[in-house]
Amino acid sequence: MTIRVLSPLEAARIAAGEVIERPASVVKELIENSLDAGASRISVEVREGGLALIRVVDDGCGIPPHELRLAFERHATSKLASEADLQRIETLGFRGEALPSIAAAADVEIVSRVPDSMEGRRLLFEAGEAVEEGPEASPPGTSVTVRGLFRRQPARLKFVRSPAAEAGHIATVVSRYALAYPEVQFTLRIDGRVALQAPGTGDPRDAAAAVYGPRLAGALVTLRPEADLDALGIALAGLIAPPDVTRASRADVSLFLNRRWVRNRSLTFAVEEGYQGQLLSGRHPLAIVHLRLPPDEVDPNVHPTKAEVRLRREREVLGVVRDAVRATLARLSAARAVAPATPPPQDPASVGSGDTRKREELRLASPAYQSTLAPSGGDETARREAGARLPVLRPVGQVGALYIVAESPEGMCLIDQHAAHERVLYERFLDAVERKRPDSQPLLAPEPVELTARHRALVAEYLDELRAQGYDLEPFGDDGVWALRALPSAVAGRDAGRSLTELLDLLEREEGMDDRRHRVAASLACHAAVRAGQTLSDAEMRELIEALEACRMPRTCPHGRPTMLHLRSDDLAREFRRR
Ligand code: ADP
Ligand code: MG
Repeated sequence: MTIRVLSPLEAARIAAGEVIERPASVVKELIENSLDAGASRISVEVREGGLALIRVVDDGCGIPPHELRLAFERHATSKLASEADLQRIETLGFRGEALPSIAAAADVEIVSRVPDSMEGRRLLFEAGEAVEEGPEASPPGTSVTVRGLFRRQPARLKFVRSPAAEAGHIATVVSRYALAYPEVQFTLRIDGRVALQAPGTGDPRDAAAAVYGPRLAGALVTLRPEADLDALGIALAGLIAPPDVTRASRADVSLFLNRRWVRNRSLTFAVEEGYQGQLLSGRHPLAIVHLRLPPDEVDPNVHPTKAEVRLRREREVLGVVRDAVRATLARLSAARAVAPATPPPQDPASVGSGDTRKREELRLASPAYQSTLAPSGGDETARREAGARLPVLRPVGQVGALYIVAESPEGMCLIDQHAAHERVLYERFLDAVERKRPDSQPLLAPEPVELTARHRALVAEYLDELRAQGYDLEPFGDDGVWALRALPSAVAGRDAGRSLTELLDLLEREEGMDDRRHRVAASLACHAAVRAGQTLSDAEMRELIEALEACRMPRTCPHGRPTMLHLRSDDLAREFRRR
């Protein structure tokens, strides 16, 4: 093969790949530029998940006409005056890569006007080339329009998911900046509809209300560290959920370091540790945590997307975060103990009080639970034969409210109750879709459910599959409320809104399965299955085992984890040196 030097456009595209992974990356970079420009209003508009159009308009400082072209040169930035500045970065951007990267991956039109100029200037890039430039009437600020993203890069397009899924990523990005900058007014329009509107009042609770809905925002508690952090050069603020408002994933632990959203496992765990055992197992908190450290202690220059950061005093910072969460929750429970008459604020769309929740989990003999175990009919003998690989099992008891001990003809079995029930429900839900007869239960009255922008995008993406499983839901008004009219029977009797958001959280994590119907069936199964920690009666154990025996693939849960361990009599005898 002959060696050849890449054309500037080819080289730019390769470099751009690091910065611009998907439409949401473009939105992120453009919002960061607007924030660095001191904007107080930022509007984001996307069409077809950002592939057809992304437009970000701000009222910031603008770009002087003679610098407009320069802004699109690689490594051109106004944010680092000298090398030394790299040691103390206070702007969101600094690498001078975003605009050239975007122009390499799409057609870009920019119109910008500095406030003291009479008119603005417009510049159009197509296929990486500046093709038009000239004066343009415009309000002060900058507007960037990106069209046909990845159109000339089929390889990139393959990694982009459905428009609804990409719109969901975009909603997540905008939500993060709305939480990070409560003083900035954000509007996000997806395909013409307002998906998010943060008022820019400067009150973090208003921003949280825009992202999570007013009821949940009202339940959040202000994070107040006990120790004097000034002396440590650390500032900490935020809003955290009380321990009875939980989530199925860690996606709603939002961390901001010097106003930059960051991904940091240790910090996330430090927040969770602050709840010290007050969370139900497998549940995660919702928290918005703002941390400020001297800029020279933070290195955001680890990766082009700048989401990973290195901290100089990591151990100390982790301790500060954990202790502040702990102290805040301790004050909260003290306040609740003093005033037992006032019920704790609840988020009906997420989780009720701890007590009702436990009662619900223990309420196993309820008709809803029974119905999930009853055989779904069909050709039972055929099914039994297919499941014949599973020996006939006799339940003996339960261990740790986690496992069922059962006797088999060849020895004994330990069955993971949750995994086994997941398998049973998963096959039943798939069968119901196949027969177009979901086991659905109408609600007495339609229930309004407030969904976050991220959840709304998921609902839009999976609406058909959710309906096929027995959900009857439709948008109700314009501000993210959906009306729920019926639910799958397997989850009937739970708080409908809370159950739906939990299902959506689970669904978001089902990335491993290709088929959307399977993803929905698996998340619904995980959501509806008995949990670890639930005590089962003998009858319930027997029912679960019989239902498992009837499964087509009884030995693994829908995600491929084992449902049971088999200890053969031979092995037991050898262990006890009977042989
Ligand atoms: P960086 O943000 O790392 O400096 P970019 O490629 O994103 O690099 O932007 C290049 C330069 O263009 C910025 O440094 C800034 O001077 C200017 N710029 C980009 N977007 C805006 C905007 N919305 N308002 C004002 N100036 C902007
Ligand atoms: Mg930038």
